[in-house]
Amino acid sequence: SSALPYDEDLTHKTILVGDSGVGKTSLLVQFDQGKFIPGSFSATVGIGFTNKVVTVDNLKVKLQIWDTAGQERFRSVTHAYYRDAQALLLLYDITSKSSFDNIRAWLTEIHEYAQKDVVIMLLGNKSDMVHERVIKQEEGQKLAREYGVPFMETSAKTGVNVELAFLAVAKELKQRVCQQPNEPKFQIHDYIESQKQKSTCCGFM
Ligand code: GDP
Ligand code: MG
Repeated sequence: SSALPYDEDLTHKTILVGDSGVGKTSLLVQFDQGKFIPGSFSATVGIGFTNKVVTVDNLKVKLQIWDTAGQERFRSVTHAYYRDAQALLLLYDITSKSSFDNIRAWLTEIHEYAQKDVVIMLLGNKSDMVHERVIKQEEGQKLAREYGVPFMETSAKTGVNVELAFLAVAKELKQRVCQQPNEPKFQIHDYIESQKQKSTCCGFM
């Protein structure tokens, strides 16, 4: 409600990164509107940003979420896109090996152009596509651990873990802005593990 404290300082530029087709725009649509619109989005959709306010520990945190307009198709995401980003959701598609293999290249670019303290979350999207899966959940986990970033599998189609992904990022960002000295530090990895929804009934082992 509007009675909650609201701090303009808690407006955070959050960007979506990853190969074309991994589901960045779909993920944002699912988070923003709670629905899945099948089919690819044209390059004209997703220009600019979407503002979303999430409530974290009785505080409103505004995420200004930027989606590319298809530039990633040509690997021409400009460096300006990374600039000022405080958080970054990096996606691959669990049904696409190349999108997973390219995560390292994306991370190299991120380390080069994004701010040092950017909050990074690795997401294996399309977890609903059990039969088409080519990347095991443990592979995603292993890569994430190697880079020290939190990880989860999401489905922009069913909505599994979509809110959680953005909420975990918002919690981490909020802590950075207004942590009290003797407040226990928010542990994003532990939080995610405790909140994660299982992506499918049929398992992924
Ligand atoms: P982007 O290029 O990364 O923005 O990807 P899009 O959001 O345009 O999605 C590419 C294609 O994958 C579209 O056909 C989407 O409908 C589909 N898609 C995206 N996310 C999911 C998902 O979680 N599950 C399934 N089954 N399809 C998805
Ligand atoms: Mg898109």
